[in-house]
Amino acid sequence: MKEKCNGWVCPNCGRTVWTDHCPDCLSGIHMEDEEGIECGGVMEPVGVWVKTDGKWEIIQRCQLCGEMSTTKMSSDDNYMKIWSIASKPLASPPFPIEKTEELTRIMGGSGSIKWRKTE
Ligand SMILES: [Zn+2]
Ligand SMILES: [Zn+2]
Repeated sequence: MKEKCNGWVCPNCGRTVWTDHCPDCLSGIHMEDEEGIECGGVMEPVGVWVKTDGKWEIIQRCQLCGEMSTTKMSSDDNYMKIWSIASKPLASPPFPIEKTEELTRIMGGSGSIKWRKTE
């Protein structure tokens, strides 16, 4: 899937990053979609996903094409940022709420998404 081992500059905060997402602001770059087409949009962190085995993943959405993906959290990540995302009340959800079902499928249907439930 994603190959970002060559280092890249975070479009959001300017930090040089060696992993697939920026440890400071948790943004990423949308390199390729499922068909392998390069998008280049900024992947913005919109939520945090906790799997049933206790592993955390960051949910990102591309600002350009709207595609969502998850990325594994690393020990270098900014935990304050993660908590602010995890606890942020979503006055306006970053995507239609029906999308959460799609996301649950993407992520194997096991776990819970850490954003405010609207129902
Ligand atoms: Zn950044
Ligand atoms: Zn994109």
